[in-house]
Amino acid sequence: MSNEEARSAGDLRNTGLSLRHDRTWDYELDRIVDEVERKDAEKVGLQFPEGLKRRGPAVADDLRARLDDTRIMLSGQPCYGACDLDTYLMRRTDVFVHFGHSPMKESDSIIYVPLFSNVDVEPIMQEARDELHDGDVGLVTTAQHMNQFEEMRTWLEERGYTVHTRRGDDRLTNEGQVLGCNYASADIDADQVLYVGGGKFHPLGLAMEHPEKNVVIADPVNNAVSIADAEQFLKERYASVHKAMDAEQWGVIFCTKIGQGRFDQAEEIVENNDNAYLITMDEVTPDRLMNFDMDAFVNTGCPRITTDDGPQFHKPMLTPGEYEIAVGNKPLEDLSFDTFHGTW
Ligand code: SF4
Repeated sequence: MSNEEARSAGDLRNTGLSLRHDRTWDYELDRIVDEVERKDAEKVGLQFPEGLKRRGPAVADDLRARLDDTRIMLSGQPCYGACDLDTYLMRRTDVFVHFGHSPMKESDSIIYVPLFSNVDVEPIMQEARDELHDGDVGLVTTAQHMNQFEEMRTWLEERGYTVHTRRGDDRLTNEGQVLGCNYASADIDADQVLYVGGGKFHPLGLAMEHPEKNVVIADPVNNAVSIADAEQFLKERYASVHKAMDAEQWGVIFCTKIGQGRFDQAEEIVENNDNAYLITMDEVTPDRLMNFDMDAFVNTGCPRITTDDGPQFHKPMLTPGEYEIAVGNKPLEDLSFDTFHGTW
């Protein structure tokens, strides 16, 4: 898959945080320096998502120039969400800064610096109006565009729409925010939803989670308007389930990342299947599973690993719901998107 294809398919590493536009980010250095001084901190940990890691040394330089006798450490762990905090570094630093995501859970020991996009969303919203009918419309966006959410709402209201928004469950910080694994903020009373944000993966999940709604994608990152069509995505998932139907030995993955643990779910599968083995790991990659001689895997960690990267694994990789279908506990029609609720 080329980078461009991966991006349009909503690859984890190429969401709205990839630097397609030359953006100016606000790293909120004053807030970090204030906290370091308040705590008289000696060690500071910085964690960036994949698309912004290259900016880490420059931010460290800026902080070093303002802070004497403070050791700045950069996390080299992969990072794809606020579910994915570097807990090792967090425990060993006095101030820990997580860039690029809104908090999944507020904590005194973490400074979250969301890094909002400064791409103007209005031109693409104007284009998206061709796909919207008058009247009620739901509005959702990602953390990167959250800073413009109220402007988006006002812009739609000024054009006569009745805008429906809600804050989702505990996993979501803001009104109208969606994650790749949680669309609770789209549980609104409208048959159409406008998604403003980069990539197709979020709106595809949204369309699967809410099949009764028309999901219009206004993508200011790739400057494109489209309708979320879950059909192809569903076909791919059905194909994976079919491949796993003959599996005897199952590897059940429990992800040890702080915000991706669904131990009860993993344990329940293993308890009810003598041929299932619990495998614990942080980063779930094809390489790491290669040496396990299993017929299929079920991933209780990030659903996007299963659906985005699924074809790269040497054996079928299913979500917990898909596993239930593959082993015959549920009918094929029950296939749905794997959503993730709660924090830790
Ligand atoms: S578990 Fe959810 S928040 Fe975390 S990386 Fe996956 S989709 Fe994003």
